[in-house]
Amino acid sequence: MPALASLLDELVTANRILAREGVVDAFGHVSVRHPDRTDRYFLSRARAPELIEAGDLMEFTLDGTAIDPAGRAPYAERFIHGAVYAARPDVHSVVHHHSPAVIPFGVTGAPLSPIMHMCAGIGARVPTWDSRTSFGDTNLLVTTEEMGRHLAAALGGRPAILMRGHGAVVAGASIREAVFNAIYLQLNASLQMKAQALGDVTFLSEGEVAAVLKTRGAYTFERAWERWCRRAGRPYDARPMDGPLAGR
Ligand code: MN
Repeated sequence: MPALASLLDELVTANRILAREGVVDAFGHVSVRHPDRTDRYFLSRARAPELIEAGDLMEFTLDGTAIDPAGRAPYAERFIHGAVYAARPDVHSVVHHHSPAVIPFGVTGAPLSPIMHMCAGIGARVPTWDSRTSFGDTNLLVTTEEMGRHLAAALGGRPAILMRGHGAVVAGASIREAVFNAIYLQLNASLQMKAQALGDVTFLSEGEVAAVLKTRGAYTFERAWERWCRRAGRPYDARPMDGPLAGR
């Protein structure tokens, strides 16, 4: 399969996996930056992720303009994706979701931080963006470039951010990394709620987070991706497994 077609097929798979793992429901989306044009990205037309086919994928400029809409309606919140790509040259895939597990943290200001090694990719502390602080009473959706830029600025150089009363954004260097961190962000939020019901939580230190990420290579993402593909009923397109843990 040509490189671009393979990447778009992987984006379809990412949609199906995020739906299968409960990170997205009828809402939420995942995009990938164009491999040859840093000023463009691919994102589905407005549709529930578990239904998405290759023909639903649309190409956008970073300001959210569709290259060839062909009658397809885009997501109202596509501005999240373009703004993150504009602010972060290191990011090649973005997930936006409303996972119920993360919502309590965004509305209380309770700190959300990794409590287990697999969740280190969410960053030592996940910040929260509140649309109301700069945009007042809205329907909470990120529907303009200005809102997208404000959210991307709050994300800064981090892998993830919560959105108060709404959901989260997770960024990755690849589709597999962004999906991995989105799934483990959801798991961490769920586990942290349970742990804090029992007592005070010992979070991973910044040094432990750094140590985990230092030993994380393609091997980690491939091992997870293959399983998630099987669970989502999608073919597994293997990538080379490198990194310090390869073969373990
Ligand atoms: Mn949303």
